[in-house]
Amino acid sequence: MTITEHAEAFSGSSAPTLAALWNAALPSETEIRRGRRRLHAKATGIVLTIAGSYWALVIADLPLWIRVLAAGGLVASLVATGTGIMHDANHGSFSSRRWINRIASCSADFLGASSWLWRFKHNRLHHGNTNVDGFDSDIAQEPFARLAPGQEWKPWHRWQHVYLWFLYGFFAIKNVIFGDVRNLVEGRIGKQPLPGRTKRSTVARILAGKVFHIAWAVVVPLIFNPWWKVALFYVCCSWLVGFALAVVFQLAHCVDIAGFPNINAERRGEDFLQHQLLTTVDIASPMPVLGHAFRWMAGGLDHQIEHHMAPRLPHTVYPMVARRFHALCHDAGVTVRRHTGVWAALRSHTRWLMDMGRRPLAA
Ligand SMILES: [Zn+2]
Repeated sequence: MTITEHAEAFSGSSAPTLAALWNAALPSETEIRRGRRRLHAKATGIVLTIAGSYWALVIADLPLWIRVLAAGGLVASLVATGTGIMHDANHGSFSSRRWINRIASCSADFLGASSWLWRFKHNRLHHGNTNVDGFDSDIAQEPFARLAPGQEWKPWHRWQHVYLWFLYGFFAIKNVIFGDVRNLVEGRIGKQPLPGRTKRSTVARILAGKVFHIAWAVVVPLIFNPWWKVALFYVCCSWLVGFALAVVFQLAHCVDIAGFPNINAERRGEDFLQHQLLTTVDIASPMPVLGHAFRWMAGGLDHQIEHHMAPRLPHTVYPMVARRFHALCHDAGVTVRRHTGVWAALRSHTRWLMDMGRRPLAA
């Protein structure tokens, strides 16, 4: 299925305006091929940075300040792996070849999260039901946080706009150790059952992924370094990677300018594009250098609207698609939600956490 056919499959005859605008903004096959070449060059740079910084941090006997710099490089390249390789590959957009996507999707296991569970959780639950409580696992952080109006309020949620930033960094570590295993044992993610009966080979692959992650991140460093240094660097680096990934994803949906439709909201077929436009927000990158750095790290996820409308596009084409789509929407009078910058996005997320942290009138 081509990208155009993919978008058409989701668009319907009764919403011709939005579907027509979106189709007019889509890239040509040549632009997609060019985007994939840029994506592969970026991925090569990321892998080389990981290898170089890992060697400087773990294996070479270098002064502490160089190791701290190397840890920074490793964190940045691991975040970019999550947003720019793992996310694309698990959507099937890293390559036009399925087997290459499958190999690249193992970068999720490299980061400590099961790629198999990620595809169900992210592609199906999150993308298919964005911001719908009970389906979208990105807004399911109970009892730590209340992120949607339908969720139960607890007294400590009053302070979630303060403490949640700190917890975001630990959610990734929690998933590496407990989250995925609990999902497997319970056979569900949140309230949603896993698709079909989980095969033994799938369980074996998930566990092999965990062993792979622990091997490079803990066991090999223990061969070259004392245990307390390994523990300290592992917790700090994991926290930073988890924090950055959580925040990048939260700023696109869990904000006070996004919609949170109820469970009965129409979101399939002809309503798909409208649903994504209501629940997803782009982030402008107005600052030349910092904006570019953020875009590189976020893997195009500053253009989440475009990603949600066509998740099988390589992320490197989103800025171009967004320019066209926003201009077309502007001319047609269609509202497209967009933060004016990263700072505005952070403030919007904070306001939403404060709104959801207030005791509801009925509680
Ligand atoms: Zn996605």
